[in-house]
Amino acid sequence: MRIGINCGHTVSGTVGSGAVGILNESNETRAVGYSLMEKLKARGNTVVDCTDDRSSTVSENLRKICEKANAQPLDMFLSIHFNSGGGKGAEACTYGGRDVAGAGRMLNSLKSLGFTDRGIKDRSGLYVIRHTVAPACLLEVCFVDTQYDAGLYQKLGAEKIAEALCEALSGESPEESEELTMTQYDELKEMIDNLSENVNRLSDSLNKLSNPMIYNYIDDNMPEWARPTIQKLVDKGFLKGENEELGLNDEMLRMFVVNDRAGMYGE
Ligand SMILES: [Zn+2]
Repeated sequence: MRIGINCGHTVSGTVGSGAVGILNESNETRAVGYSLMEKLKARGNTVVDCTDDRSSTVSENLRKICEKANAQPLDMFLSIHFNSGGGKGAEACTYGGRDVAGAGRMLNSLKSLGFTDRGIKDRSGLYVIRHTVAPACLLEVCFVDTQYDAGLYQKLGAEKIAEALCEALSGESPEESEELTMTQYDELKEMIDNLSENVNRLSDSLNKLSNPMIYNYIDDNMPEWARPTIQKLVDKGFLKGENEELGLNDEMLRMFVVNDRAGMYGE
């Protein structure tokens, strides 16, 4: 997979460098982000670093992040952040609140490490969500200013978090497809066989309707029950085809046979 990773804001201490509480957002997004990039590369993914360290304004920073992400085709874009404001747990922000770019799987991974799962939020208006081409997720790992979150994060360490995120994103292969079980395959095959049999029958009927069988000769094509009667009519000179072709249809065969059995054509 081709994955774009953005380590949140600019570096610590510069314009727009993110939240600072017990943890420093700018430092921790880099600790988690660069560890995640290494782990994703080790698993054979192509990783594009979409981090912008220095910009003179927040809008310049956001614009540069998206430019880096959109410079090549990506399967997904992930922007790593840490939350502030005294809440608890991890949340993922996506366009329309959809579970894209591994959002749901990453939240599950963080939950299994002990963080509260705050869910996937509809944050369609976020700059990096709206202006990136690839399916995008902005992940808030946890709160920098909540004792429980900061304590748990420090206990686990950035690498452990990166490992969990890598695991979550690796399950997000775009080529991932569900294989059919043998039973499902058999059921599907039977359904298709039945369908094609019905279609064949239908087209046979249609064919007969638009092309009624014409018997020009007394041969194997002509039904056996009609052959003696037609032979008799030809032998006696009652029946002569145009250009040696009889041009009889089923209805005519039946009529001649009934008349013959009624004795109309003699012995
Ligand atoms: Zn942030």
